[in-house]
Amino acid sequence: MSKPQIPLEELRAQVAACHACPLADGRTQTVFGDGDPHARVMIIGEAPGKNEDLQGVPFVGAAGKYLDELLSIAGLARSEVFIANVLKCRPPGNRDPQAEEIQACTPFLREQTRTISPEYIVTLGNFATKFVLKTDRGITRLHGQLHQAGRFKVFPIFHPAAALYDVRKREALEEDFAKLGRMLQDA
Ligand code: SF4
Repeated sequence: MSKPQIPLEELRAQVAACHACPLADGRTQTVFGDGDPHARVMIIGEAPGKNEDLQGVPFVGAAGKYLDELLSIAGLARSEVFIANVLKCRPPGNRDPQAEEIQACTPFLREQTRTISPEYIVTLGNFATKFVLKTDRGITRLHGQLHQAGRFKVFPIFHPAAALYDVRKREALEEDFAKLGRMLQDA
């Protein structure tokens, strides 16, 4: 028999109370995730940055604005998707997530994914992609191709923050979001 799904609000409360790794000490608040709890597309980023930590919402600031533009290329509004991160607390100075932090935090992401049960998971950048696809291959090789992880279709794309100052990555991101839009229409 499959495990029962945990309601999102219950998961949110568990995350808010979590002290399972040292990142709890430096946070203003946890950043659980945001969007349609029945979304067809779930977007998974890396970790909260400074603005996300202050506001408690993923992808605000310049990268968030750019993500909204990218979603519109795919024909999606932010309110139609669910956005979460691998880590729910901000790493100091926006450094990379560490392996122990990912291990401590990802049970929450797994449960979020089970509860939302999206058709597509879009992983943004290396950390989300490596976790979801259980691979060591990097985003440069994996982006823009559809993969399968269990019952989920997984579509890796560069992280929008990495593309803010890199024109070539911007082109790849925009092409990949256009491809996502076509897949959503065709399905
Ligand atoms: S990053 Fe995740 S595991 Fe670490 S304290 Fe925050 S919620 Fe808990």
